[in-house]
Amino acid sequence: MVWTANEVQKLIDKGELYKFYKSKEWLELREKILKENHNECEWCKRQGKISRAEQVHHVQYVKKHPELAMSRNYQYKGEKKKNLIALCHDCHDKAHNRMRYKKQRKPVTEERW
Ligand SMILES: [Zn+2]
Ligand SMILES: [Zn+2]
Repeated sequence: MVWTANEVQKLIDKGELYKFYKSKEWLELREKILKENHNECEWCKRQGKISRAEQVHHVQYVKKHPELAMSRNYQYKGEKKKNLIALCHDCHDKAHNRMRYKKQRKPVTEERW
């Protein structure tokens, strides 16, 4: 499977984006990114902490940017930025603004990855 923007968009439309996250291509890329970061959370590391990275986060959400689903980088104002970052559980929650979880407000229905 080649994950073109079109293919990814189709899954989004059908509500089957999990199929992308279960695909061999994504799992391999994810594994690579984690390894390159020695399984350490990139955000924690910046603060001098070492935490185990458990997730690879899309800086540009797949739902908004299906064309970047398999892309390590993206361009922003002519600058190359990282699209895929290794994060620990807590930082990943922060990345998705899910800290409100703890306040037990409405269930979270956004992207879970
Ligand atoms: Zn972290
Ligand atoms: Zn994420």
